[in-house]
Amino acid sequence: MAKTNWSVPVTEALRAEGVQVAEFDASATPGFRPDKKLGAKKTAELLIEQRRPVLADLQEKLYANGRSGDSRSVLLVLQGMDTSGKGGIVRHVIGSVDPQGVDHAAFGVPTAEERRHHYLWRVRRQLPRPGQLGVFDRSHYEDVLVVRVHDMVPPEVWRKRFAEINTFERKAAESGITIVKVALLISLEEQRKRLEQRLDRPEKHWKFSPSDIDERAHVAAYQEAYQEVFDLTDTEYAPWYAVPADSKWYARLAVTELLIDALGTLKLDWPAAHFDVEEQRKRLRKS
Ligand code: ATP
Repeated sequence: MAKTNWSVPVTEALRAEGVQVAEFDASATPGFRPDKKLGAKKTAELLIEQRRPVLADLQEKLYANGRSGDSRSVLLVLQGMDTSGKGGIVRHVIGSVDPQGVDHAAFGVPTAEERRHHYLWRVRRQLPRPGQLGVFDRSHYEDVLVVRVHDMVPPEVWRKRFAEINTFERKAAESGITIVKVALLISLEEQRKRLEQRLDRPEKHWKFSPSDIDERAHVAAYQEAYQEVFDLTDTEYAPWYAVPADSKWYARLAVTELLIDALGTLKLDWPAAHFDVEEQRKRLRKS
């Protein structure tokens, strides 16, 4: 296993328990030296540079076990404001593993069909299959974040959802899904820079939406909403990690390490052959 240079385990450094969102330092690098070169090198080591990169190796074991009847899976829930780097995590971290072992789902504004159902309906159907690494790019948390901030349903409706979400996640965990929830938190200044870059570069214009600027006026309401999400839905079976995301290198390293930790808890090994290896070797020689 590669050395990771963390001064404390990543799960301790980033656990959302006790985090005050309004005072959060999005430029910090908890548990790791503020050294971009070192951080990027570590991430590359874990994701691509070794003969068997750590994350891809663990994911392949998860997949192999899934094919052999193991019902377990892992789910990464990614939340964050526009430009917080969700897409980069999916491309760079998740993109380093075998795509056939990934169940990726993005949750945008609900479609007409989705609106006809309970808000968890579309989420339940996208839970990862056995052996898969699931990724939720936004999630059911939108139903207590954007929905709350923009008064899309009355408070008595979204308020009930925290307990409902906990029950939903507890059942998912009991069915064999290891859940890792990541909130990518960026500062308003960093978001301004990233939005400016989108405006400066024609190839980024498709990612820009004028409403991204309107959302910036609601930052205090979002902070309050994230605070309650952390206070009410950070559980042992579905923990939240508050990841400072002003430094892309740090956020990518942190999510890589969180996934490695989650997969590590499954103590995966290669499934035993369901045939006699020697016998098959002999048959092969003769064939
Ligand atoms: P992203 O910002 O995630 O990169 P995007 O800007 O390309 O994505 P979509 O992925 O189409 O847009 O949709 C994301 C938008 O959908 C976000 O503004 C999000 O708040 C909104 N959204 C997601 N779930 C809900 C929901 N349950 N109710 C209302 N709006 C939602």
